[in-house]
Order: sequence, then C-alpha cells, then structure tokens
Amino acid sequence: PLDALENPGLLRTQALINGEWVGGAETFAVTDPATGRELAQVPNLGRADVETAIAAAANALNAWRAKPAKERAAVLVRWQQLLVRHADDLARLMTAEQGKPLAEARGEVVYGASFLDWFAEEAKRVYGETIPTTDPTKRYLVVKQAVGVCAAITPWNFPLAMITRKVAPALAAGCTVIIKPAEATPLTALAAAELAQQAGMPAGVLNVLTADSQRSVEVGKLLCESDVVRHLSFTGSTEVGRILMAQCAPTIKKLSLELGGNAPFIVFDDADLDSAVDGAIASKYRNAGQTCVCANRLYVQAGVYDAFLDKFAARVAQLRTGNGFEAGIHVGPLIDEAALQKVETHVADAVALGAKVLVGGKRVEAAAGSFFEPTLLADAAPQMLCSREETFGPVAPVFKFQTEADAIQLANATEFGLASYFYSRDIGRIFRVSEALEYGMVGVNTGLISTAEVPFGGVKQSGLGREGARQGIEDYVEVKYICLGDI
Ligand code: ADP
Repeated sequence: PLDALENPGLLRTQALINGEWVGGAETFAVTDPATGRELAQVPNLGRADVETAIAAAANALNAWRAKPAKERAAVLVRWQQLLVRHADDLARLMTAEQGKPLAEARGEVVYGASFLDWFAEEAKRVYGETIPTTDPTKRYLVVKQAVGVCAAITPWNFPLAMITRKVAPALAAGCTVIIKPAEATPLTALAAAELAQQAGMPAGVLNVLTADSQRSVEVGKLLCESDVVRHLSFTGSTEVGRILMAQCAPTIKKLSLELGGNAPFIVFDDADLDSAVDGAIASKYRNAGQTCVCANRLYVQAGVYDAFLDKFAARVAQLRTGNGFEAGIHVGPLIDEAALQKVETHVADAVALGAKVLVGGKRVEAAAGSFFEPTLLADAAPQMLCSREETFGPVAPVFKFQTEADAIQLANATEFGLASYFYSRDIGRIFRVSEALEYGMVGVNTGLISTAEVPFGGVKQSGLGREGARQGIEDYVEVKYICLGDI
C-alpha cells in the first residue's frame, strides 16, 4: 500500500534525534494489521539513544523558550499546513500500519493537525497576573514559564493526533520534547516529524525515539527516571499509567495521563431513537471500537429497549468490515491478534452469562488480518467482563434499565471516568444526568465530542490533566511568583 505515496520521502524509517535521522544497530518490523505483511523496519533504540535525545532536548531548551511566542507559533502553523498538505500520504501511512479506513485516517490527520493551529494561538496567551499588594513597599507578580524538557509516550489508536495534542501545547509553551510513539505505529509519527523538520523545527526541539514493545519499557523507564525530563505525558492503558506514575515518583515529575475509559451510553425513554442509533454507531464502531472514548456499555431504558435494538441491529448489520484501503469499508482490522483475543473473550464471557448475539459475534476467519465482525449483544448484565473492562473492539453490549437513578448508578459503577454519553429530550433530565455522571466528558445527544478547542480528559482512574482547549497548555507551564520589594 505504501507504493502509492505521492511523496515517498514521507516514509521515514529512522528515528529523529537532535535534528538528525538516526538508524540503530537493531530494527523491528512494522506490519499491516489488515494483511499481516511487513511494511518497514525501524530502529529499535535503547539507553544510549535515550540519553542522546535527553541531552539534545536539554540543549535546545534555552533558545526555544527564549523565542517570542509568535515565533514558536509560526513554526507550529507551518507544521500544521504541511500536515494538511500531505494529508493523503499521512492517511495512507496510517491506514497501512494502524488499519482504520482511509477516510477516517484522513479525518485524523486534519484533527491531529488542528491541535498545532490551536496551540499556536494559545502560545500567545500564556498570561501572567499582578496581585493587589497588601504591603505598600511590595508588588506581587505572577508569570508562567515553560516546564522544560518533556517526554510523550503515545498509543497506536490515534497515531498522529495523540502526538500533536501533547507536543503542540508543549512546544507552544516553550518546552522541548522527546516522543516515544507506539511500536505498532511509528511510521505516521516519523512522517509527521519529517514535516516538522520541513517546517523549520530547530534541532533537538522535537525528537522521536522508536522502540519495540520490550525496549519501550526500558525507554519509558529511562525517560521517567531522568531528572532532566520535567514532565511526562502518556496516553494508554490505566495499567501502564500506574507503572509510569510510580516510576516518576522519585523525580516528582509532572504528569499528564490519558488512561482507559469504560464509557456508558445511555438512551432514555424520551430520546430521539434515530439520533441515538446514529450516535451509538459513531461512538461504538469508529476505529473498530478502539478508542478510549468509544461507548463500551449501552444502557437502554425499558420503554424503548426493543425499539432501539431493532433499529440499532439493522444499522450494525450494514457495517462493512475489511481492508481500510478499500472503498466503502466502515470497520478495519483490530491492531493485533491479542486485541482480537480480548474481544473474543469478552463475547464468549457475555454469551456464557446470558447475553444474546443479535449481530456478528466472531472473528473473520477468511481474512489474513485481525478482523472481528461488528457485533451487537442484547441482555448484557453487570457481572460480564464487557461491563467491567474496556473491550476496545467493535462489540456493543446493550443493558436494560428501569429508572433514571438506576442508569446513573450503573454508569458510575466503574473505576474509570473518561467519556460518557446520553440521549434525552427533557431539559431537566439533561441537567440532572450531566451533573450526576462522574466523568470528565459528557456527550448529550451526540456520540462524537472530541475537537481541539475543548478540554479532553478523565476523572477517577482515567487520568490526570486535560488536553486541548485553553486548559491544555497549563500542564506545560510552571507558575512563578515574583515579589518586588523596596518600592
Ligand atoms: P495500548 O493498550 O493502547 O497498547 P499501552 O498502555 O500498552 O496501550 O501502550 C501505550 C504506549 O505505552 C505505547 O507507546 C507502549 O509502547 C508504551 N508502553 C507500554 N508499556 C510500557 C511501559 N511499561 N513503560 C513505558 N512505556 C510503555
């Protein structure tokens, strides 16, 4: 699939350290989850490379943070424009290594690029303040300064957007960054880094270290342990988030964590059912169900339960699964065999505990890649795995509930608190339920909520901090109080 690149120079198979493309003594394979075929080999880096990258980022810091925000913003804007100009090629790379349908991949490129644009603007608005004095001989000032060298460890489900949404606020604030992209999707990250170079990113300001799954553990540990690295941003599982948080404790590193979700999607009796079905399709099956904000549990009130299931089942049955490069495909492959097995386990467990398979229910045996049929399960129950854990696949378990209070109680009965959704036309209920859901984000009458202008993030064990919005830059600045005496 990569023979079709308009600009073959975007297929970068080396890591970026201090503005130089570097190979490694060892490499690892990047494969296409739709075919199982190898796409490229990239460097499998280790300790020495991490140390070089940290030194490069530290060395580049002073000049970068001393630039007027407007100059840093100009680099971000040029980078954004290049990403959009090369959206087709970036989408091809993304579909090849990650599997999402090409149109969805292109959408992610534009979405991912929009964080650069947004934070280029925010760079200019890192305002300080003056505090009215309580001592006539003194004046109190507050300024905000770049945190310093930052590390970003990113997942494979959004190979570009999870990078830009961390890197854009960091760079805008005046920080320098070391990125460790997911081992499954380094090609999109490296292509984006190539475009950053073309945009005029100074050497050492943005570094990308590639490593396989084992080496990623070592690289991650070194980044956490470094006292030069002042901030770690991570998007991935809650399990790995806990490990990284513990590893960052000795250096009291600042942390931004976007961890797992277990999103409830509630349909009340008074909902517009067609709209709820549209929202459920978009929220559940996007990226083959592999997003941390995908609806994981669908709660439908008794009065509309059968009607909702009829309409929803008809739509799920129409979803086409296949290679994301083919036209008309809605659901691509899962990222790997392990992901497929997790989904199979969740379905088997649900069926054993009484769920009914209305659509799909099994892997696509004929395919070489890791495909699972878009699946709809009725009569799901709280003791099932799919109720307690994030399935991260194209499986929609539907639970029946009776009252508004029941729905809220069921929705909140999880250690996660990232995204939640509900459908209702009653204004009082909309306020009550929005306020009662213990989640960082609530979609009311919509299944799609992400955009660069809003604060994305979770409560409870779904994470720390917010990405995007004006809040997104706050994790990358320190507040400094300056007291002027002898006035
Ligand atoms: P997912 O479940 O989305 O694959 P993970 O949390 O396993 O999420 O991985 C997200 C990112 O974290 C990837 O870049 C991966 O290489 C990295 N990673 C996984 N385990 C560790 C670890 N122990 N230390 C540092 N990085 C890790």
